Amino acid sequence: MGSRAGDRLLNVNGLGISLDRRESGASINFISHAHTDHIAAARSGNILASDETSALLGAYRIKPKKLEDEKGWIKLLDAGHMLGSKQLFVSDYDGGIDYVYTGDFQMQKSAIAKQIQTRKADVVIIDSTYPRPEFRFDDREEVEEAMGIWIRQKMKRGIVLFGSYPMGKSQELISIINGFGITPVVTPRIAEISAMHNSLGAGLDFLSRDMDSERTDEALSGNFVGIVEAGKLREAAAAVSAAHSKRVYTASATGFAKLYRMGTDVQFPLSDHADFWQSVDYLNAVSPSLVLTYGGSQDVFAENLAKVGFKAMPFGEFRQDGLKTIEARWHSAKRL
Ligand SMILES: [Zn+2]
Repeated sequence: MGSRAGDRLLNVNGLGISLDRRESGASINFISHAHTDHIAAARSGNILASDETSALLGAYRIKPKKLEDEKGWIKLLDAGHMLGSKQLFVSDYDGGIDYVYTGDFQMQKSAIAKQIQTRKADVVIIDSTYPRPEFRFDDREEVEEAMGIWIRQKMKRGIVLFGSYPMGKSQELISIINGFGITPVVTPRIAEISAMHNSLGAGLDFLSRDMDSERTDEALSGNFVGIVEAGKLREAAAAVSAAHSKRVYTASATGFAKLYRMGTDVQFPLSDHADFWQSVDYLNAVSPSLVLTYGGSQDVFAENLAKVGFKAMPFGEFRQDGLKTIEARWHSAKRL
């Protein structure tokens, strides 16, 4: 979706705040968490982010220049998505309006992230990753239990390899697999990011090895669970199978498993995002007068939220300038 007028900054107290994007004219660049699709502004100045997010940006060789004076009208709230992920809560003194921007978030407690915090706000700017009500994520406990059963079964017969996103999801997988009493073997890149998580208190137990090495290595002598970058899974599975002369079982663990075939032996719908109905739960807790949907699917998400009773519109259509009340802004936008 192309950007539209007004699709750019949140303007509060005379300052323009960019939300997980690089935008011209931003006085403050908010980075909600350390996933690569949210850090385009990380090399700009005046970064607003949690200490954990700032530290994890080191994985991309970025040392962010943080905002010098944190403003009293800004608060960061936990988002539940990954280590250090935050929502942005700001109070506009001029209009007396409280805004909250979610970034990526989830309502369920994950293995690594802190549980989400909710706080009453007048306007919610909400992530649109899962804009449709048709599917729901399963309960995390059920998904994790199914993973444990499958892993134990397959380890009797061969090697288990997960393909995973290196930042965030891999550490969650390590934590879940540790819960089954297993120390997974990971690639050097995943090990580097996991060590950063440990220096922030994550307490993960993992081994870093070349899994397709033919050298005898105690960690690789029996059947083991490995985690590799998702894009390298197919290649890694063939190499590991050849090196150890064993069957390799492949797995993926992502919310997109609900929508797409992942091409692995098994796919677990383990998501770090809110589905549509979790978003509704979130909005009921925050109880806003107006919902602004944000991101690639903002139009369809706004339509679907309107169908279940929220006053909702795409962020790109919202007009803030010169109008003091939410009602006035809403009606002004609707006239366009
Ligand atoms: Zn994310």
